Amino acid sequence: MFLMILGAPGSGKGTQGKLLADHLAIPQVSTGEVLRAAVTDGTPLGREAKGYMDQGLLVPDAVILGLIREILDSEGAEGGVLMDGFPRTVAQAEAVDRLLAERGARVDRVVLLEVPEEELVQRLLGRAAKEGRSDDNLQSIRQRLTVYLEQTAPLVAYYERQGVVRRVPGQGTVAEIAARARDAARA
Ligand code: AMP
Repeated sequence: MFLMILGAPGSGKGTQGKLLADHLAIPQVSTGEVLRAAVTDGTPLGREAKGYMDQGLLVPDAVILGLIREILDSEGAEGGVLMDGFPRTVAQAEAVDRLLAERGARVDRVVLLEVPEEELVQRLLGRAAKEGRSDDNLQSIRQRLTVYLEQTAPLVAYYERQGVVRRVPGQGTVAEIAARARDAARA
């Protein structure tokens, strides 16, 4: 099963993505985590991505698509993958549709985590205090929310046309939301 978990920054994609991937017994891939690891390791990918990430901007599609191709071709990904934080643009969604079609697959489900904007900002500021992510400062948070609304939210309509979107209210306990996400992935 190829499943995308979609939602604004702070909507819980990372937490819920991991739980749902474990439940479905498929690998979870977070492009944000891959990029952060590359930045920490100082690889060419990391050096290219860091400036965009710190400013709250998207890393260019061409860079991300190289990554996704590698992920889809990696061992263990043949039967499906849960992608968290990807796609972020319509161009990325179109490209992954082509890559999956070449492999005889398609996007089976998009789980959309819905959280009101005021709560997103509070959660991201809380995470900044706890995890110290360099992009969790107020300026970058605002920028990431704007980028989400302008570039990523249009994906909802894109996937709705494919009939694969399932909306999940993203407020409540982690366990409550996880149960809803499991139902959404099945439905
Ligand atoms: P995330 O951990 O998903 O919130 O991603 C953190 C940052 O990594 C984003 O603000 C972007 O700069 C970058 N990033 C992660 N995934 C993507 C993607 N699919 N396309 C472009 N940039 C991405």
